[in-house]
Formats: sequence, structure tokens, C-alpha cells
Amino acid sequence: MLPTFDPRDTEAGSRILEDISSNAGHIQEQVLEEILTKNASTDYLKSFLNGHSDKGLFKNKVPVVDYEDIKIYIDRIAVDGEPSRILTNESITELLISSGTSGGKQKWIPKTAEEGERRAFFFCLLATVQNRYLHGLNDGKALFFVLINPDIHTPGGLVLRTTTASEIKNRKDRYPEVIFCEDTNQSLYSQLLCGLVQRDAIVSIGTFFASGLQRIIKFFEEHWQEMSSNIRTGQMSDWITDPKCKRTVSLILSKQMPDLADSIDLVCQEKSWEGIIKKIWPRTKYVQAIITGSMAQYIPALEFYTGRLPVVSPAYVSSEACFGINLKPLCSPYDVSYTIIPNMAYYEFIPIGNHQDPDCTNSKDAHLKDHIVDLANVKIGQHYELVVTTCTGLYRYRMGDVLLVTGFHNITPQFKFVQRRNVVLSIDTDKTTEQDLQNAVTIAMHILEPLGFFLLDYSSYADTSSIPGHYVLFWELQLRSNDDFPVLDQVKMEKCCSLVEQSLDLQYKMLRNRSISTIGPLEIRVVKQGTFNVLMDFYVSRGTSLNQYKTPKNIKSEKAIEILDSRVVGKFYSTEVPNQDS
Ligand code: AMP
Repeated sequence: MLPTFDPRDTEAGSRILEDISSNAGHIQEQVLEEILTKNASTDYLKSFLNGHSDKGLFKNKVPVVDYEDIKIYIDRIAVDGEPSRILTNESITELLISSGTSGGKQKWIPKTAEEGERRAFFFCLLATVQNRYLHGLNDGKALFFVLINPDIHTPGGLVLRTTTASEIKNRKDRYPEVIFCEDTNQSLYSQLLCGLVQRDAIVSIGTFFASGLQRIIKFFEEHWQEMSSNIRTGQMSDWITDPKCKRTVSLILSKQMPDLADSIDLVCQEKSWEGIIKKIWPRTKYVQAIITGSMAQYIPALEFYTGRLPVVSPAYVSSEACFGINLKPLCSPYDVSYTIIPNMAYYEFIPIGNHQDPDCTNSKDAHLKDHIVDLANVKIGQHYELVVTTCTGLYRYRMGDVLLVTGFHNITPQFKFVQRRNVVLSIDTDKTTEQDLQNAVTIAMHILEPLGFFLLDYSSYADTSSIPGHYVLFWELQLRSNDDFPVLDQVKMEKCCSLVEQSLDLQYKMLRNRSISTIGPLEIRVVKQGTFNVLMDFYVSRGTSLNQYKTPKNIKSEKAIEILDSRVVGKFYSTEVPNQDS
């Protein structure tokens, strides 16, 4: 039973947080017991536990699985219309689509009404933390951009939607009507326009993931003149035809506001858009967006556009469950840790001896079961992959996220989000992880930063069409000033390629150094501005929600590679073989 409280009651919320973080081990045991008692008779658990709900038996017999292992059960419910009790005795009310852009394919995750309550509890706790540390939030309005995709129905008759759409559609009365518009462009345009008109009331700005905020700024860059003209004339653009957008905007855009339009023009016409968020919304105190893990690449861009406003990375959440809250919301984006909320799911952890070695996380079940530990037994400084068991029918399910234990709040562990388990680039025996690549790219960018560039976004793939194969990185660079994009200096770009190679691990360097190299010189393809928006639009058109979008770091889709390749403005190769001794 979850405790209930009013999220505005900071004292009550804080007491609950202290209480649960002081009893994490005990709560975890209760959570597992509840899951097993409730679900022992499901087809899935019965096949391993024979109807028993013993916790020891669970740890011995139930395998550690990936999505692919349980897809067959989910498909029976979602596609064949079989009952929820195949996986859970809670009734599955909808399926959540995970973005899938970070880990490969989209996943369908069961959701139940009870899970909705657990999520509501989590977000109440989160609100408590924010009310406690983010002063002034109630002195104005929050401009939080939300975009939802249309619902899809599975052949078995279940609704398929994103986590955000699920939350919003299940609590319709809490949200402004404009958010329910399912046309991304009209919705975003209208939300921005409302934010501009109410510019002086806005005290915080946010999106779910940092990549979304970047997309919004680009959209604003493309549309500010039209928006300013709407504000000047008090007339909405004709292409805004969605009735929800029209109704919301017309309430706010009720008269001509030439002074406001002038002041927006003045800011947007400035040569550089550095600090644009702070300039357009001068009362903004915080920017909210997840900025950890693969989102860390957006830190320089966000610092640039926000004028170094504090960026709050609030929580670690997913379609599978909500996991952790950042209890120090004002800390530097580089220092964010999430404190696990012990009543959300039953957590286990696969230790990763050397987190650079992704093989150890790909081992088979028997090996994993010998090494897996529960929440009470994780150690500071150790990397783990998160495994969850939920009431919604996921049992010992590998999240694919690698976490580092950084400390404890009372007795509850706190984790830094490190990377996805996936190897992003692989040729021969080299396996380069997302974080290896992120670190290497950050180091290489030190060459270009003094020239006024930052990296807006990047991606990569292993090009094996020629022998030897080589890694290709696509970079979209952005100038801090609004000057014309200069011709890139060939020597400096080649140096970037070499530095990326030099920063990859020994295995990579060995394969590059062989007398007959197994991996060829690394290539950077610089793409023209706006390319990664086109890539995002491509994935969104295929059903990924813009709220959840994470730029795929290992592009597999030929169409996506085509999109990037058709926008390349310069190709550069490493001219040095990396030194194996450093
Ligand atoms: P989705 O189910 O599409 O919402 O994606 C969930 C995934 O997003 C998680 O498994 C993580 O890989 C990633 N994610 C969620 N929250 C965070 C966070 N705070 N920091 C880094 N990555 C995150």
C-alpha cells in the first residue's frame, strides 16, 4: 500500500521520502512478496515456480531476460488478444511504447491501473523535492513542452501509446487543451506562441529530454518571425486549424500586441542566439530536462541557449517503471545522481566488473544469476546493469541501463546514469560503447571549441561496405555566433578524427595498428545545419514520440543513413594511427 499525501505539503512528502529511504531493504522484500503472491498463478511465473510464490525459489528459478525473450508473451496479449494473466494478474489496460531509439527496436510494455497509481506516487515525491529546492516556482508559470502521438490499437485490441500520452490522457483535467493536439507542428507552434505571449509570467521551462529542448529552439528559430507577426496583429496563422490549438491560443492572443512583438523581434534579431531562453523569458529561473546518460552531449548546447541557467535533471524514468529521483536538483549536470524509490519495483543489479567491457553484460543467464545482487547489497563505486521485476508482468527484466553507485540517501543507493548497455560500434573484436564514444567525441571537440563551435548532435555507424571497415561519425556543428558557417579547416578536422581514435580503448587501437589493419581510419562526416532535426522527424514519422526521442547513436536504418549522407558538407579521415601506449 503506497502512502498518500498532497504534493504541495513539502513536510509530509519529505517525511515519506526519509521514511522509505530508511527502510529500502524491507520495502523491497515486501514489494517482491506482493508481486509473487499476486502473480504466482500467471502462465509465465507458473512455468518456473509451479504456482509457488517463494522468494528464494524466484531467485533460483526465474531467468534473467531481455525484451526479446518475453516478446512472445506480450504478443500473445497484444496481438492475439489473450488475457493479461499470461503475465500479470493486474489487468493490462494499455501498452506503453518505449522510444526504442536508444536501444534498437520499440518495445511494448504492459501498463495497469495500479501502475498508474505507483507513477502518481512517484511524481508526488518528485514534486515535493522540487518544491523544497527550487524556490520561486510558484511565483509564475512553468512552460513545459509536451507533444503526444495519436493512439494506435494493437490487433488484440489494446491501446498503444507513449508513457507521456498515457499519463496525460488518463488525467485529462490537469492539462491545457493544446497539449492534446496530435499534430506535432501545430501543437509545438501553439505552445510556443502561448509561452511568448505570457513571456513575463514564465519562471521555468522544460521538456522531458534535453534533445527535445534543442528541437524546440530550432523550431523557434524557423518560426519566430511568423509568431511575432501573429502577436503584432492578434491573428493566428491560417495553418493552425486544429480546434484545440485554436481555442487555447485565441484565449491568449485576444488583441494586437505590437510592443511585445517589437521586443521579441529585438531579441531574435540579435547576431547570436546565446542565452536566447533567458532573453525571451527573462524571469526563468530553471530549465528542466533530463541531461544525463546519452543526453549529456547536449550540455554545451543547453548552456549556450539558456545563458547558463541551472538545468534540473529531475528523474530516471522509463516505460517499464519510474526508478529514481534527483534529490539535489540544483547540482551540476555532471554530478546528477538518482536516488532509487524502493516501492516502485523490485530491483536487482548485475555487477559489471569493468564497465568498459560490455561482454560481461551479455553473458547468459546461469552466469548472471550467480552474480546478481539486490538493492541492499550494491557497493559504492561499482557499475551495475539494472534488472527489474514489476507488478505489470516483467520478471527479472534487463533494462539495458548501466548505473554507477555514487552514494546512499539513508540506506537507499544513489546512482549515476552511465550509459546504455548496447555496444554502439563494432568491427571485428572491437566493441565501442555509447560512453566510450561520448568521451572520445567530447575530447575531440576541444579542437573546435576555441574556434567558436559546439557540437549540436552526432551519431555514428560502422561502415563495413569496404575492407577494412571503419567507423563513421556524423557531426552537426553549430557556431556560437550567427556568422556564416566557415569552410572547415581540413587539418583541424583530421586532428579531431585522430583524437577520437586516440580516445577509444586499447582493443580499437590494436585493431587499427595491425600490420594489416582490421579497422580503417575513422571518418567524420560533417552534416549541414538542421540535419539532426530531419533525422528526428524521420523517427517521429515512424512512431517515436518526440518527448521520448533520443538520437540513435548507432544508426542501423539505411533510410536514416541516407538522410544523413545526403546532407554531408565535408568528409574527413584520421591521418594518424593511434598510439597504443597512451
Ligand atoms: P522510454 O521507455 O522510451 O521512456 O526510455 C527509457 C530509457 O530512457 C531508459 O531506459 C534510459 O535508457 C533512458 N533514460 C530515462 N531516464 C533517464 C535519465 N534520467 N538519464 C539518462 N537516461 C535516461
